[in-house]
Amino acid sequence: MQTMIRRRREATPERWQKALERAFANGCQIFQDQTTGMWIVTSASKPGACYATDGEECSCEAWLAGDPVCQHRALYRWRHGRLEGPRPQATATAHVNASDLTKQLTSAIALLREVRSVASLDAVEYDQLSAAIRRIAKVADALSATATGQAA
Ligand SMILES: [Zn+2]
Repeated sequence: MQTMIRRRREATPERWQKALERAFANGCQIFQDQTTGMWIVTSASKPGACYATDGEECSCEAWLAGDPVCQHRALYRWRHGRLEGPRPQATATAHVNASDLTKQLTSAIALLREVRSVASLDAVEYDQLSAAIRRIAKVADALSATATGQAA
C-alpha cells in the first residue's frame, strides 16, 4: 500500500465502473437538451454547474486534463446502456442516507456469509453466492466512501 506507482490514466473497465459509482454517490444527474439534443451532466462538486458530454468527450476539468474517464462520461455511458450500474431509484435512496444503507448492506453480507457457511451448497451454488456477496460488498464499500464523504 505504501508503494506509490505512477500510472498513466487509462480507460479501464474498473475506472469506468468507479467513475459511475462516484457519479451516483455524488448525486450527478443527466439531462438532454430537447432543442440541441445535447446531453448534460450535473457537476459532482460544484453546485449549479454542469458539463456537456457525448460519452467520448466532456467539458469538465478531467477531460481538459487528458483523463479518458470521468463521472459525466460514465453516467452518459450508463444512460445509454454502455455501462452496467444500479437503477436510478436505488441510487436516489443511497444518496439520502449512505451511512444507514451501508449498515444494512453490511448486515446483509454477514447474513449471507452465515447462510453460506451453514447451508449445504454444491460448488456452483457456493461460487454464485460468493460472487453475490462480493458484489454486495463492493456496493457497500462504495456507499461507505460516500458516507465518509458526506460526513467530512
Ligand atoms: Zn466530465
